[in-house]
Amino acid sequence: MIKTKAYAALTAKTQLVPYTFERRDPKEHDVVIDIKFSGICHSDIHTARDEWGNSPIFPLVPGHEIAGVVRSVGAKVTKYKVGDKVGVGCMVDSCRTCPQCKQDLEQYCDEGFTGTYGVPERDGSGSTQGGYSDVIVVNEDFVLRIPDNLPLDKAAPLLCAGITLYSPLTHWKAGPGVKVGIMGLGGLGHMGVKIASALGADVTVISHSEKKRDDATKLGAKNFIMTKEEDAFTKNANTFDLIINTISSADLDLASYLGLLKQDGTMVSVGVPDKPIALNVFALIMKRRTYAGSLIGGIKETQEMLDFCSKHNITPEIELINPSQVNEAYERVLKSDVRYRFVMDMSKL
Ligand code: NAP
Ligand code: ZN
Ligand code: ZN
Repeated sequence: MIKTKAYAALTAKTQLVPYTFERRDPKEHDVVIDIKFSGICHSDIHTARDEWGNSPIFPLVPGHEIAGVVRSVGAKVTKYKVGDKVGVGCMVDSCRTCPQCKQDLEQYCDEGFTGTYGVPERDGSGSTQGGYSDVIVVNEDFVLRIPDNLPLDKAAPLLCAGITLYSPLTHWKAGPGVKVGIMGLGGLGHMGVKIASALGADVTVISHSEKKRDDATKLGAKNFIMTKEEDAFTKNANTFDLIINTISSADLDLASYLGLLKQDGTMVSVGVPDKPIALNVFALIMKRRTYAGSLIGGIKETQEMLDFCSKHNITPEIELINPSQVNEAYERVLKSDVRYRFVMDMSKL
């Protein structure tokens, strides 16, 4: 077994604390990864506090934005070798046989994919534990290659924030001539601005934080809508072809935001608040608008995203912290006070 240092939530009601546990010895197709950096996703907070009601298994080591270096490999691993720069995102396994898995859409696996933390391992050997730790053991099919020009600390957030925006932006064809709105300029949102801009789309940030106006332009957005301005929604009605909603709170008037879409426009929700959001159907039917959702991305698509970011030199804006600052970082994320992703230096564990 492999001794592992980590930060864990022991219960949904307590702060994260230092924690040690054991990982499995590598099986034939496993890669053992020394974790160098671990991003903090808002989903980590929702899960560590059991806000979604899906009862994760405690003690829980969160973290699904993992970047590191291969320490060792199992006897039959062909894709990676010792010393390779690699990443792990939100999934560590899936059934591999259903129609979705066969189409490289493991995130939509009929049996449910195996999340990187908080769920049972498929072989019944305990629960998965995530990246707020110094080492992880993952089947090679769920390991990503990090291109050489992407520094490991900045590569980490691509494994969730990056792919979660890349997937809907490419699926709904963001590109030249397409007006894209990004709702919420946080970890996910700021990757959306960078990726949509690189795809050639005309990007607007739709935010409730006036202090982020200047950053939006620096990140590549052409426009900024401050939703607290009285006429924000009337002045900008019928503007967008595509809106990606990254907002983590249910406390919003969805119909007003839907009104920003043109006829036949689509809003894709990727943000997952802790409560249901009420939807006034008139906001859809009056202009044949579509309301959709999207979940991370498949493994093949995640590699495509990493290669796209490498080619276009896209990396997140990060604030590098020590793992001991994780609880403080959670509070700042909740206040929309992060520019734009906390990444923990796991060598400081
Ligand atoms: P984040 O960094 O906290 O960003 C969320 C942003 O939402 C904030 O920066 C803020 O943007 C906006 N916001 C927060 N509270 C708001 C409120 N009361 N009213 C209006 N806007 C508000 O979080 P994140 O890590 O980007 O994650 C965002 C959401 O996506 C979370 O719910 C997370 O669980 C979910 N998620 C989903 C997937 C998926 O596959 N679908 C993957 C990863 C994460 P402004 O300050 O600019 O308004
Ligand atoms: Zn995430
Ligand atoms: Zn499957």
